[in-house]
Amino acid sequence: MKIRAKKSLGQNFLVDKNILKKISNLVNLEDNIEIVEIGPGSGYLTEYLLKKKPKKIYVIEKDENLVEILSKKFEENIEIINSDILKFVDNKIFKQNTIIFGNLPYNISSQILVKFIINKNDFKFKKLVFMFQKEMADRILAKVNSKNYSRLSILTNWKFDVKKIIDIKSNSFSPKPRVDSTLLTFTPKKIIYKFKNPNNLEIITNIFFNQRRKKIKKPINQIFRGNEKIISKLKLNLDLRPQNVDFDTYFDLTVEFEKLTN
Ligand code: SAH
Repeated sequence: MKIRAKKSLGQNFLVDKNILKKISNLVNLEDNIEIVEIGPGSGYLTEYLLKKKPKKIYVIEKDENLVEILSKKFEENIEIINSDILKFVDNKIFKQNTIIFGNLPYNISSQILVKFIINKNDFKFKKLVFMFQKEMADRILAKVNSKNYSRLSILTNWKFDVKKIIDIKSNSFSPKPRVDSTLLTFTPKKIIYKFKNPNNLEIITNIFFNQRRKKIKKPINQIFRGNEKIISKLKLNLDLRPQNVDFDTYFDLTVEFEKLTN
C-alpha cells in the first residue's frame, strides 16, 4: 500500500536498508532486552528490530492510519499503542532492560528528549537511540565554550552519556527531508546531581540562555540578588557569558537556587 506522508506529523520514513541494519545492530542478540519504538511509521525499522528477537516490543504511534497498517503487517510479539508520545503516561512499559528507539518527528524531537531527561516518575531504561536533525544533534553534543552549547547540552549531560553514532544524509529518507540527520545514543549516568525538582535545572538554564549574549552578571543578579556568598562559593566570573559556564556550574547553580526557594 502506498502511504502518503503527513508533514504535520514529521513523517520522513527511513528507507536505507544499510542504515536500518546498522541501527538495529545496536541491539545485541544475547542482551535479553525489551524495545520501545517511538513513531514506528509503517514499520521499516520495526522489522529490523524484530529480527533481534527482543523479549517484547512496544511501538507508540500517533497516526491512526499507520496504526492500522502496522497491525496488519505485524501479527505477534508486538504491542501497538496508538498514542501521542508527549501525552503518553503509562510508564510501566519502561524498564531497566528497555532500549527506546525513535526516528523522531523533528518538530517535537527536543520535547521528546526532555521527557526522558526529566521524568517525574523516575522510570528506568537502558538506553535511548534517537535520530535528530543534524543541527539539533550538534546542539545536544556541544561542549562549553562552543557556539552550539545550549540548554539542551546541559540538560542532556545532567542525565546521560551521549554518543554520536552516525550522520545520515537526507536521501536515506522518503520523502526526503530538507535537512541531514544524526543518530545519537544516550546512556543513563550511574551517578548524577540530585535536585529536589529537576524542572529547576530547566528554569535556571532558561533564564541564562534566554539572554545568551549578555554577561552572566545579569541573570545571577536576577536569581540571587547579587548574593556574594554564592558568587564566591561557586567562584563565578560574572563577565562570562552563558556559553562559557560549564555543566557542573549550572548544576551547582540549580542546587543553590533550590536552597533559596525552599
Ligand atoms: N520510524 C519510522 C518513521 C519516522 S517518521 C521510519 O523511520 O520509517 C516519525 C513518525 O513519528 C511518524 O510515523 C509519525 O506519525 C510519528 N509521530 C509523529 N508525532 C508523534 C507523536 N507525538 N507521538 C507518537 N508518534 C508520532
